Amino acid sequence: MPLLPRRFQRFKSVLNHRMADLTVLLEHVEKPHNLSAILRSCDAVGALEAHAVNLDGRPLRTYNSTAQGSQKWVPLNDHPDIETAVSVLRNKGFQLFGTYLGMDAKDYRDCDFTGPTAFVFGAEKWGLSHRARDLMDEILFIPMRGMVQSLNVSVATSTLLFESLRQRQIMGIAPTQGEGLQPNHYQRLLLEWSYPEVAAWCREQNKPYPALNEAGELMEELPRTVKLRY
Ligand code: SAM
Repeated sequence: MPLLPRRFQRFKSVLNHRMADLTVLLEHVEKPHNLSAILRSCDAVGALEAHAVNLDGRPLRTYNSTAQGSQKWVPLNDHPDIETAVSVLRNKGFQLFGTYLGMDAKDYRDCDFTGPTAFVFGAEKWGLSHRARDLMDEILFIPMRGMVQSLNVSVATSTLLFESLRQRQIMGIAPTQGEGLQPNHYQRLLLEWSYPEVAAWCREQNKPYPALNEAGELMEELPRTVKLRY
């Protein structure tokens, strides 16, 4: 199917609002409807990607219709354990905010999420592990006023992601023109979203991605067999 100009503009508009410095880390969050809802919120707020640590031996992760395809637009990066995940994120400059309703936790409304922010969420049943809690820079909670002790994990995710966006918008630092991504990363994603088959072929062939013009057309002649794929 040819790339329609409207679709190309939509890809650009979404990438213009993406933030590489806002993410979530899920520790053993496994239920398909929760994973789906979380990725959908990441996409909606503009988080570039998400991270997960899974229990050993669990079957491949699945999504349900709640995701509305957002798993295609927000990659979920797997890590073998919480230590590795934390160290990867910390090396990228993220501040890690664990979510836990403990005595030492801080009300999320008193926290600053305008810098590189990773929210860390625990399993549906058990919450955040002791090990994970020990590794966090800060532990925060969303105050509860009802009979039930905690929120559904996807609701907690959405609350915090949108609080971060709200704070960034007030400070005038929420990206609107692609400033949230490195230029080469932006261009790479634009090509992958616009022409996934061409991107796959380039990767297979170990070739650099072709450039796109303002209208979203490929600026390079490709072999006929590749052209036929899109
Ligand atoms: N029994 C678990 C516990 O004691 O933590 C409840 C887990 S809760 C259903 C799943 C995850 O959602 C939690 O680990 C946390 O990441 C997040 N969560 C739920 N309610 C929250 C709240 N009020 N504040 C912060 N995080 C919350």
